[in-house]
Amino acid sequence: MLFDGAAQSVLVTFFVALVFLGVHSPHIALDTSGLWLSVLVVVLLLRGWEAWAYKKERFNKRSAGEWLRQHRIGVLLTGLVWGWAGVQFFPVDQVQYQIFTVLVLAGLAAGALTVHAPDYHSYVSYATPTLIPVGIASLLQGTNLHLGMGVLVIALLLFLLRAGKRMHESFLTSLHLRYENMNLLEDLEREKSRLGNRLSRILDGSASEVYVFDGRDLRCKMINTGALESLGYEEGAVLDMTALDLLNMKDRSDFELIAAALKSTPEHSMALQVRHRREDGSTYPVEARLQYSEREEPTAMDVTVREQAEQMARERQALVQSVVTSAPISLWSLDTQGNLTFFVDTGFWQSDTFPRACVGDNLFSVYAGIPQVVSHAHQALAGERFVTDIEVDGDTYEIHYSPLLDMDNQVYGAIGVALDNTERKQYERKLIRQANFDDLTGLPNKNYMMPRLMEAFVRAHRERSRVALLFADLDNFKTVNDTLGHKAGDELLQLAGSRMQEILRDTDALYRISGDEFVIMLEGLNQPRDAEVVARKLLDKFQRPFVLRAGEVFASCSVGICFYPDDGESPEKLLQSADAAMYGAKAKGRNTYHLFTRAMREDAERRLAIESRLRRAMERDELSLVYQPKVSTRDGFIAGAEVLLRWHNPDLGWVPPDQFISVAEDAGLISSIGQWVIRQATSEANRWRDVCQVPINVAINISSRQFRGENLLLSVEEALQETGLPPELLELEITESLLVQDAPETLDTLRALKDQGVRLALDDFGTGYSSLSYLKRFPMDVLKIDRSFVRDIGIDPSDEALVEAIVAMAHALDLELVAEGVETDEQMQFLQLRNIDLIQGYYYSPPVFIEHFREMISQSPPALLPQTSADTAISVL
Ligand code: C2E
Ligand code: CA
Ligand code: CA
Repeated sequence: MLFDGAAQSVLVTFFVALVFLGVHSPHIALDTSGLWLSVLVVVLLLRGWEAWAYKKERFNKRSAGEWLRQHRIGVLLTGLVWGWAGVQFFPVDQVQYQIFTVLVLAGLAAGALTVHAPDYHSYVSYATPTLIPVGIASLLQGTNLHLGMGVLVIALLLFLLRAGKRMHESFLTSLHLRYENMNLLEDLEREKSRLGNRLSRILDGSASEVYVFDGRDLRCKMINTGALESLGYEEGAVLDMTALDLLNMKDRSDFELIAAALKSTPEHSMALQVRHRREDGSTYPVEARLQYSEREEPTAMDVTVREQAEQMARERQALVQSVVTSAPISLWSLDTQGNLTFFVDTGFWQSDTFPRACVGDNLFSVYAGIPQVVSHAHQALAGERFVTDIEVDGDTYEIHYSPLLDMDNQVYGAIGVALDNTERKQYERKLIRQANFDDLTGLPNKNYMMPRLMEAFVRAHRERSRVALLFADLDNFKTVNDTLGHKAGDELLQLAGSRMQEILRDTDALYRISGDEFVIMLEGLNQPRDAEVVARKLLDKFQRPFVLRAGEVFASCSVGICFYPDDGESPEKLLQSADAAMYGAKAKGRNTYHLFTRAMREDAERRLAIESRLRRAMERDELSLVYQPKVSTRDGFIAGAEVLLRWHNPDLGWVPPDQFISVAEDAGLISSIGQWVIRQATSEANRWRDVCQVPINVAINISSRQFRGENLLLSVEEALQETGLPPELLELEITESLLVQDAPETLDTLRALKDQGVRLALDDFGTGYSSLSYLKRFPMDVLKIDRSFVRDIGIDPSDEALVEAIVAMAHALDLELVAEGVETDEQMQFLQLRNIDLIQGYYYSPPVFIEHFREMISQSPPALLPQTSADTAISVL
């Protein structure tokens, strides 16, 4: 405080000094007044610097006592300078100047009273040196006037010192008061916040819901944790909501009426029974107490809410009751003694087996005669949770029992539920039947058979005996079905099934595994011949005609026989063997049985060996192509080539296509292999156009399975596009077996191929059905007479006649004719005479590798002589 007004008092002092000097200037020499002013300015600068240093450094470097001492020194120096002025500027005989000086100094001393009020000693150090010199100077003048003036100056000084003391004291008192007030205020603030904290702690800890709404717009201003938890909201979300939303009051006007009533009777509260709505939409009953407070600014509406626990419990109970009674379940609960504490029955306990019981009865005594019920209840009260089935009066119930546990996991009872499962069980049984039995004959099916086979194998293994499998296939079932209709077919199957059953012993089993295929399993056979006896009996049974509604039919069957463990050690394997044996019987001419033979097994094993290696043949680059020329009988030019697949495997050596093509078909490999052949052959054929001027076509074999596969059309299209081979230079060879199946898709695909411009050849003509109608129906370009006819030329006149007939017919239909397997001069001449267009066979050339073929076409036409120097490696193929 002392330093606070320093700048101001320095400036005032300086200003007073200038005026003072100005007044005295007429009689004072310039150098005197200059000296005085300089001293004053130095002192004032010192004081100014002192105040600045104090502000800057505060108490850092010096203690308060030191600062005070320094201040007093500065003030004393100022006082001394003024005291000097009182002597210097007191000119003898110029009374008016003397009076001016006294007035200025008295004024300065009086003015300093307030400035130095904080420190009395500072004031004394200032006022005393200021006034004493001028007083003494005045007294020394000796006149009455001067004496009076001097006395008054001294008296004034005394008076001022006294006043200064008073001022200082009252200043201190007021300072004290100020600090005391400040402490008081701080205490008040602290107390307020403590109360606030305590209040919100209490509110948050309370389970009730507490809300404070703004009295004007009813927006939520405060909400306690209890309310947030009950409603399931976040605090932030709630602060935007109004009392209407939060208290779930649908009608605004109703609520405003209530609010108005509350406002008119402030400090009175009102209770409302409402339902609160949680964030998830569910509601619960509450009692809300509303109170309006006007004393707050702005006004507020306080709401406390209590859950209606009793009502809630009632509602919950009603809910449980209605759930239980509306579901087809019986529900009951027990206390630890076995007394029924809750009981809703929709059927389980009403069955005739059970005595009647109701709430309060003891289950153990009422049902003492039914051990199952008693033991279940004991189990559940022992703390076990379980599900079990009970059959009561022919109905099946599923019983769920669980213990009732309190907070400490102690059992205080048990709860039981019974579900009527009768329908489901029946349905399950039906499903099991459907999955395992054939509806038509009532016989078990393949699904059921496989595990039974496995069981029989285990028994046979233990007893070192055999299991025989008889695979029976009706020979003419398809004909019956096609000619007499499905109903007749079904009848035949039923009758066939029951005739088979007639010859079986108790230990034998009969299964229907698909359409017209039946399997008989014979166990405990001593010798294989026993199975043949059964097979003969079976064939015998089929000698008599079957009497169907549509008429009598004869139906024989073919039976394949095989044995465990000789012909297969797994059910699948053995079934395959039986199937193969059955085909053996069919091949023998039907209506007979056939045993699975070593040759069959070897064949099956070889096919397996082929399959596993064929899968990797492509990626291992084991496949290659050979080309067999087709030569024109007119001019001896090579007109085309048939491309034939070759496979050399490191383990199996050269495998003939007759062996691996059918394996590839069964293993699903034919499409990718066929695709590869098409791509290779077309790109090769395209190259021939550069080697030879005459167009040379390429013929590719397409097996039936490959033809019916999805991507044949696409493969052909892509190959033609990629290689640029003109489509008329591509010929696809298909066999009659494909056309016999007579599927509409076959015709579509053939037409699509024709539309692309590709030529179609019918391969091996004469070996199969050789039906003329196929030739007319399907858009063929080429007919290939099978090797077997050519072979018999000069040997079998009837075959020769057949060839002549085929030639006539083909020419009538405008088909190109190719003879396959031409080996001799005689055959050659015969065919040439009959106007066969092209010949293919060893007579001209065996299939050859590509380099060789290119050489041939570059030299064509050679003389049509028997080929003696055929590449030996190739003729082996
Ligand atoms: P295919 O279509 O009847 O083929 C003609 C077969 O007769 C070829 O046997 C050929 O080497 C043989 N052959 C040719 N000239 C004579 C001869 O003067 N005398 C005798 N005895 N035989 C002759 P290969 O190459 O063993 O093919 C057998 C069968 O394999 C073919 O019968 C064909 O159906 C099939 N095949 C061959 N390559 C493929 C192919 O790339 N794809 C398909 N799907 N089947 C193919
Ligand atoms: Ca062929
Ligand atoms: Ca052929």
